[in-house]
Amino acid sequence: MVGPCSAESREQVLETAKELSAISCQLSVPFIFRAGVWKPRTSPDTFQGAGEEALGWLAEVKQTFGMPVATEVATPEHVEAALNAGIDYLWIGARTSANPIAVQAIADALNNRNNPKAVFIKNPVNADAALWMGNIERLERTGVPVMAVHRGCNHQPCWSMAHTVRTARPDIPMLLDPSHLSGDAAKVPELLKKVEELGLDGAMIEVHCCPEQALSDKAQQITPTCLHDTLYPILSRFCLASLISPSDGPEELNWLRAEIDEIDDALWDTIAARMDVSQRIGAWKKAHGVAPLQPERYQQILAQRQLWAQKSGMDAAFIEKVFNLIHEQSLKVQE
Ligand code: PEP
Ligand code: MN
Repeated sequence: MVGPCSAESREQVLETAKELSAISCQLSVPFIFRAGVWKPRTSPDTFQGAGEEALGWLAEVKQTFGMPVATEVATPEHVEAALNAGIDYLWIGARTSANPIAVQAIADALNNRNNPKAVFIKNPVNADAALWMGNIERLERTGVPVMAVHRGCNHQPCWSMAHTVRTARPDIPMLLDPSHLSGDAAKVPELLKKVEELGLDGAMIEVHCCPEQALSDKAQQITPTCLHDTLYPILSRFCLASLISPSDGPEELNWLRAEIDEIDDALWDTIAARMDVSQRIGAWKKAHGVAPLQPERYQQILAQRQLWAQKSGMDAAFIEKVFNLIHEQSLKVQE
């Protein structure tokens, strides 16, 4: 599923769709064209979406280029308006996904309708696998096919949450949204490789004909050319891999490695944050004529940290070794 974050104008929607439709033909890959019409923005002073008028632009994309179209819904009224305009697929965004009452209201509006073709549910803005799965169940009961979209939280991948849902519900197709997951267009091509590594079923990618002029999510939208150049090698490998070994890749190991990479990344951020505080403590001590090393305080720290760490079942000698290293470095940054 590809297209701009927001439908901004008829020209922007049609130009982006024209370029994407050409890529779809060149690469023989079916695209669903996406664009948000009602935008759940943080600030009321930013672009809130073009509203219902933009549904007509999406209908024009469908008619002109033959691509099915998708938009985000957050209320039963949105569902009604989108389906009446002939929108093929709906998605529920991360902010709405955090609210089960809103998701249930959307599910109720979908009940007993033979359209849309599918509804996509993004993970909630908070890393809550159970809530995401609850939302999947609410939507499943409408009879409309449901797909999950993993978009991370606060620009962190949260692979563990996605892995939990993938393991519990292997029957629900899962797409990766590298655009919202990273918030950074430069990271999208690399992240897309995860679709293959983790055995996911597709991707939702923000593509804008002119990202620097985008009215929302400017930093994360890629150009159609970048999409083409990113997809080309992936799709060639994908086709080849499916010929050689249909579906027995080391996906489980890749999920676990993705989790470990994310944890190590966070570990370093945490250690860096600790060193930063150490440095400020060092500056305070210097200003007040206090020696960098306070043996009593260090013994107290070590004893307490050992207690904390033992709660997670780790070996006491290992904990001591780690804290000695951290403390040694902390003293260095205080000098
Ligand atoms: C979007 O897809 O443009 C969007 C608003 O996504 P999310 O709900 O994941 O932030
Ligand atoms: Mn967006």
